[in-house]
Amino acid sequence: MLIVQKYGGTSVANVGRIKAVAERVSKTAQEGHKVVVVVSAMSGETDKLIGLASQISQNPGEREMDLLLSSGERVTSALTAMAVEALGHKAMAFTGRQMGIITDAVHTKARIEKITGERAQKALDENYVIVVAGFQGITETDDVTTLGRGGSDLSAVAIASALNADLCEIYTDVDGVYTTDPNIVPEAKKLEKISYEEMLELASLGAKVLQTRSVEFAMKYGVPVVVRSSFNDNPGTLVTKEDKDMEKVVVSGVAYDKNQAKITVMAVPDTPGIAARLFRGIADANIVVDMIVQNISSDGNAADISFTVPKTDSKKTLKLAEEIAKALNAKSVNLREDIAKISVVGVGMRTHSGVASQMFDTLAKHGINIMMIGTSEIKVSCVIELKYTELAVRVLHEAFGLAQ
Ligand code: ADP
Ligand code: ASP
Ligand code: MG
Repeated sequence: MLIVQKYGGTSVANVGRIKAVAERVSKTAQEGHKVVVVVSAMSGETDKLIGLASQISQNPGEREMDLLLSSGERVTSALTAMAVEALGHKAMAFTGRQMGIITDAVHTKARIEKITGERAQKALDENYVIVVAGFQGITETDDVTTLGRGGSDLSAVAIASALNADLCEIYTDVDGVYTTDPNIVPEAKKLEKISYEEMLELASLGAKVLQTRSVEFAMKYGVPVVVRSSFNDNPGTLVTKEDKDMEKVVVSGVAYDKNQAKITVMAVPDTPGIAARLFRGIADANIVVDMIVQNISSDGNAADISFTVPKTDSKKTLKLAEEIAKALNAKSVNLREDIAKISVVGVGMRTHSGVASQMFDTLAKHGINIMMIGTSEIKVSCVIELKYTELAVRVLHEAFGLAQ
């Protein structure tokens, strides 16, 4: 088999852990498999690099930012290759560029367009273990890009797809996908398997165990993904196509996202084209808007439009929204960063009613106010005050009977 193994930041946090990763890779190779390893930077490294840049500039150039951030994964890829070689295997480290990971030019959140990977394929044929620096690619014009936070998951899935791997294993610090973050709710239950759709919702709603785009990619190209721990041999969670058993469960997980900010444009004239104008301007800046709520004022002539964006884009969005609001004759714009989004997810919701009302009841019972509500056929999300995040996750997890 050809197996892609991705190791996250905590799994390569120091030399000892890198050696342990090499042992696992070596064992897989000895079982007769070809192995492609994808590594993250050592845990905390990417944040450290961002911190260094912010000490130099309030608004560092995104091209240079990407060159800087890609360095963390170079370090671990080279060290991991050395560690694998020290165990008697042929090993070769590749940067994103050497791997031929071609992306668009949207710096700091680039999309993979294709993976050429010829050199890696040749090395694999010659029985090398390949170690690829995750999280990075190269544009057609030879600029280094990064794939967004948590992007090594995407590197792994995309490489697995390009090389036609039999399996993509994501090794992390928990031994699978749980009904909610096990670091917040110790009673959370590990799922044996989860559908791509549910995993995509959980990921995009904040469960960072897999990066959202990596799940999207895996679903689109049918890449079988297993999430497991690099610290033990427990069976992990298989992310796969939906099956009949899965539909029986109404709610399969609770997710939270503390990285959202809420922007409200107050008293915009209630005429056609206003929302289009506002959100076109924001989309053109490559900012992804998530929830949108519009309230018509009581006299019917003006509306308040609230929406959420990633916290990292909040200042940029505020500035844009203020400019657009002025042009639209809106009253004012405000930004709140002390919010969180809490969501319950499950494919069974398609055929069950009452999940939303049970969620609202549970939050109300604990005195948690709901600021925004969003639904799709397999999820319900509420925006609440940040300080209630952990409480909300715990009580919802319990209310939907997800505990062990
Ligand atoms: P890595 O550095 O290996 O990529 P991450 O920190 O990105 O690891 O993702 C693993 C973390 O995801 C866990 O430590 C856990 O706190 C968090 N997490 C959030 N929701 C879930 C969930 N439903 N199941 C498992 N882990 C979750
Ligand atoms: N090192 C990058 C980050 O922290 C990518 C990753 O770990 O997947 O976001
Ligand atoms: Mg991660």
